Amino acid sequence: MSFQVFGIPVSRGVAIGRAVLVNSSRVDVAHYFIAEDRIEAEIARAVSARDEVVRELETLKADLPSDAPHELAALLDVHLMLLHDDALTGATKQWIIERHYNAEWALSAQLEVLARQFDEMEDDYLRERKADLEQVVERILGALAREQGRNPVDAASVVQRDFAGEDPLLLVAADIAPADMMQFKRSIFHGFITDIGGKTSHTAIVARSMDIPAVVGTREASRLIRQDDWVIIDGDAGAVIVDPSPIVLEEYRFRQRQSELERAKLARLRHKPALTLDGEHIELHANIEMPADAPAAVEAGATGVGLFRSEFLFMNRDGELPSEEEQFVAYKAAVEAMRGMPVTIRTVDVGADKPLDRMSAHELRHEHVLNPAMGLRAIRWSLAEPSMFRQQLRAIYRASAFGKVRLLIPMVAHLSEIRQILETIKKVQQQLTDAGHAFTKVDLGVMIEIPAAAVMLPLLLRHVDFVSIGTNDLIQYTLAIDRADESVAHLYDPWHPAVLQLLASSIAHARAAGKSVSVCGEMAGDSAFTFLLLAMGLRSFSMHPSQIPSVKQRILRADAGRLSSYLADVLDSDDPQRSAEFAFAAYRTESKLQ
Ligand code: PEP
Ligand code: MG
Repeated sequence: MSFQVFGIPVSRGVAIGRAVLVNSSRVDVAHYFIAEDRIEAEIARAVSARDEVVRELETLKADLPSDAPHELAALLDVHLMLLHDDALTGATKQWIIERHYNAEWALSAQLEVLARQFDEMEDDYLRERKADLEQVVERILGALAREQGRNPVDAASVVQRDFAGEDPLLLVAADIAPADMMQFKRSIFHGFITDIGGKTSHTAIVARSMDIPAVVGTREASRLIRQDDWVIIDGDAGAVIVDPSPIVLEEYRFRQRQSELERAKLARLRHKPALTLDGEHIELHANIEMPADAPAAVEAGATGVGLFRSEFLFMNRDGELPSEEEQFVAYKAAVEAMRGMPVTIRTVDVGADKPLDRMSAHELRHEHVLNPAMGLRAIRWSLAEPSMFRQQLRAIYRASAFGKVRLLIPMVAHLSEIRQILETIKKVQQQLTDAGHAFTKVDLGVMIEIPAAAVMLPLLLRHVDFVSIGTNDLIQYTLAIDRADESVAHLYDPWHPAVLQLLASSIAHARAAGKSVSVCGEMAGDSAFTFLLLAMGLRSFSMHPSQIPSVKQRILRADAGRLSSYLADVLDSDDPQRSAEFAFAAYRTESKLQ
């Protein structure tokens, strides 16, 4: 039966495909397709992992002391029974044979199917056996991981082809941590649906950077959608249509084709310079998470990287922070890929909704604070871990010998932080000189993300070369709205007069001081705000590469000088969104008349 689930649209477009339900705690399970001639071997992997767990449990049972509670032996019997049950092992094999899923994926897919059946059981005792099933699967996954450690997957056995016939796959999960999202970059999934999250939560940001439709904050999609259901993601409306009727399916296929045509049209603007009608040159930079994203930025026509979120280099590392050398290699790769264009590297911004998997002493404390968004995150964490901070700065400065590098500091709110940063930079430059490493001048910039920084911007500007406005956090902190919390997502309002005042005044102050200012939050990549930001005097935007064409199209149709004459009315309005729509509609009509 067809039904709909609604959430928050975070990444545009339409995706149609089959649901792959992934348990939030298991999103790190590898998902890949295996080649036809690997099927037998993959089944053997699954069976041998199962057998290993059977042996483990039998040994445990045999070694139970005679005075061990009777329940313990009974529990082991239940686990052994589940391991031999065809509903688990037989069905797992079927996923491998029919869909060419790797063993881990097949096993977790089957776990989702069975867990659902357990949830629906009337009998409390039986329903509670779901936990046993999860433990058993966890053990098999552990055995598979150990085996994978001994025999890493051979690239030749992994195939890119979508073996689920012509059906694209859509990922459905209660939640996906930003660190796990990274694994899905360039993955087999054509869309995402999650129960939690907000428009600018980092999971949403990564989905946008992948340029695939996504809906978050649906609250219960992962409970209502079943493994393999046919699903449409309407990333424009924030709707998820499950088991659609043929008519609805046809309508969405049509919309999908239309948006592909539209994209192809926009892609032709790639090499056109971003010039307004009155000849203002606008910088369109890219936001990237990894050096591997840089070629897509060049391809999209970006004229630099305005935000390299370096924290993604620090995630998924099983307890290790990246060394100076490793960071240097990554920054250098991004710099070289940008072929002489500037690369703005932001120092690590972990905390809040971007935790590291490894918890340092500071972070452990931070984990227990009630409000991590206001805790030890971003520059606060860097200054609390001075050797980690120096290491990152050394790597960034060393990369400057290979191209134009700019250094950007997140979450600055105090002049004392700038003083400490400047002192650390001095120390790092001395260390590099002593060690014989080359580096060149690196401009220093701060992010304007905390209202305090926006209010005191004239003071901050005396000490830095440029500023970049992080509207995602600026909105969060100005309005006291957790950007990742779907229950207050309706209050997360970029059009709020207070947000617009801070934005307009920050841009004006930076320009008055002759310092470069850019916006790198999500507002920069949303073409609904392009005219407004141009009217405020913004001449540098940084966004996901996929958003560059539509923003550029707006710029090519804009007269920046004339747009600025509408700004006062918009800022003075009780309803800035309406008055901006009204003003800019009038602007378009006038432009046509002239
Ligand atoms: C922002 O806050 O707008 C920003 C660009 O930083 P992040 O989204 O990584 O917090
Ligand atoms: Mg931020």
